[in-house]
Amino acid sequence: MPSKSSKKLGDGGVDYAFATEAAHEFIKKYGVDWLPVDIFELVDNYAEANNVEIRIVTIEELSEETKIDRQSLIDDVIYGEDGLAIYDPDTGKYSIVINEQVEPYGRIRWTVAHELGHIVLGHLSSSKVSITKWSLSDEEYNKIEQEAHIFAGELLAPKFIVYRIGCHASAELQDICGLSGKAADSRERAIRELIDDKRKLHDSMLSIIPPFTKFLEFRTICADESTLRIHSRIQRNPEPELPAFLPTPDINKDGRYAYCPNCGNAHIAEEALFCKLCGTHLFAEPISHPTTPCGYIGDKDARYCEQCGGPVYKTRFGLLFDRDEI
Ligand SMILES: [Zn+2]
Ligand SMILES: [Zn+2]
Ligand SMILES: [Zn+2]
Repeated sequence: MPSKSSKKLGDGGVDYAFATEAAHEFIKKYGVDWLPVDIFELVDNYAEANNVEIRIVTIEELSEETKIDRQSLIDDVIYGEDGLAIYDPDTGKYSIVINEQVEPYGRIRWTVAHELGHIVLGHLSSSKVSITKWSLSDEEYNKIEQEAHIFAGELLAPKFIVYRIGCHASAELQDICGLSGKAADSRERAIRELIDDKRKLHDSMLSIIPPFTKFLEFRTICADESTLRIHSRIQRNPEPELPAFLPTPDINKDGRYAYCPNCGNAHIAEEALFCKLCGTHLFAEPISHPTTPCGYIGDKDARYCEQCGGPVYKTRFGLLFDRDEI
């Protein structure tokens, strides 16, 4: 947890830097390395590492346990909000109550991240067992809510990571980060501010890059262009320049040319059937190969698929796969 010293406070004492740094520290400490983040897993990771109990409970479950009807819980317990974090000073346990019926799903993920923010930022204590409008002054309520909001935003859609990918539009943020439209709009504004004011690209933002190294890595994929997930972030590598004269390459004992007979590329992988730069068949005799597109994931400098010779598209590894697919 970052210290609260020497921070510039915003309107109403909102500590933007404190909340942002807490989110960055969380990213580094609790295994955040992919988008969309698995917010439920992160709650568990945090609880386990800090030896605290955090139970996520839906209104439905709470209603069954307490025999209080759903609407009364919404009106009198979470006060019409999407969720609420509650601290029990007697047991030291936390509960995050969520309204599981709100839509879209991104809104529930945001609520969990926001309530987790209250816990991580130390907003809850024996004298403040939950954050509700009626129990706090307007100023304090606003400050605490804003800080949890900043934490949630930076955890679910770290500004610097989405900036690196080049995804600024709300629709892209919804897709990549699993945000609701409203949250994505607000993150889009925050990212545009970052682009306008490069001084905000300070050390703490750079330090969250290492966990996302694999996510940010460039790769190519052999696929039908229209099926790729993030369309605007897909590009094709340029065609290689062909040499004016190229001696006919030797043929290896496996029947393959020692280098590409068309462009001279000698960086040929063990399993390659086609030249990744110009798409030329690498065998002197025709051999069988997969049909295009074959789904092969290739090097970042490829223009053609090494397996089928079809066109490949370059993008970030994280935009091709969900975390559980790798
Ligand atoms: Zn809150
Ligand atoms: Zn070639
Ligand atoms: Zn292919």
